[in-house]
Amino acid sequence: MSNQTGILYIVATPIGNLQDFSPRAQSILHAVKLVAAEDTRHSRQLLDHFGISTPLQALHDHNERHLTHTLLQRLQAGDSIALISDAGTPLISDPGYHLVAAAQAEHLPVIPIPGPCALIAALSVAGLPTDHFVFEGFLSAKATARRHRLESLAQETRTMIFYETPHRLLDCLTDMTQVFGQGRVIVLAKELTKLFETVQKDTLANLIDWLTAQPERQKGEFVLVVQGAPPPDEKTVSPETQRVFQILRQELPLNQAAKLTSQITGISRNVLYALGLEK
Ligand code: SAM
Repeated sequence: MSNQTGILYIVATPIGNLQDFSPRAQSILHAVKLVAAEDTRHSRQLLDHFGISTPLQALHDHNERHLTHTLLQRLQAGDSIALISDAGTPLISDPGYHLVAAAQAEHLPVIPIPGPCALIAALSVAGLPTDHFVFEGFLSAKATARRHRLESLAQETRTMIFYETPHRLLDCLTDMTQVFGQGRVIVLAKELTKLFETVQKDTLANLIDWLTAQPERQKGEFVLVVQGAPPPDEKTVSPETQRVFQILRQELPLNQAAKLTSQITGISRNVLYALGLEK
């Protein structure tokens, strides 16, 4: 073992429910020489609960670069190390990126121990397309930067996932309403795996009403999953064309309605046919 390097394990921990802590994750935390954790007091409680006495070392945004050098030396000396965060999967809106990149640059093995992740849990129950999606993490705390970021996403057709804090939730949703429109569908996934778990799916306007009707609904941890913009083809079909198409569709099979609408409006028959299928 002495001339072998250690392994850096990236270990997911529960996002609420302790039963989501996998047996494999537990045995890795038992086995390694050191657990690097965002908040050692918080993580000590988790480790104590599972009877794991491995030493902890704080690794957070402020000391990650500085500490990376020391951790690489220990890995090179043969000690395996696990990285965990306060909850969920490390590096996902959490520290660890510099450490992983530096370990790879030194050809040290980095192994994931997968498990809970709030964005994936939320996406899995959102009932919005999952074939393509984009994770945006936290929007800026500054109103102008947040607004700009949202504007850059106005034409994004993929499902969009955001993390948000309770005190910025309403401001963020109000900005989304202005950029994406009141009718855009959003899923608010709150307190996942915890006692007050709630998944609320509605339009942006209705979700704001729901949150303001009972302000305690704004408390907790949230993931926002937002429907993507309509595909470009649909947007090129003007409301008037859609109206004509709709009337003909009520009387005719899809292919004939598409053909006639195309002759009347000049819009491609294929585009109309695809639109009809989607609807
Ligand atoms: N690394 C974590 C992961 O894998 O999801 C995310 C860490 S990030 C600092 C914390 C944010 O994740 C919260 O502000 C919230 O947006 C989201 N989050 C974490 N736990 C959650 C839960 N149980 N329910 C809903 N959202 C959660």
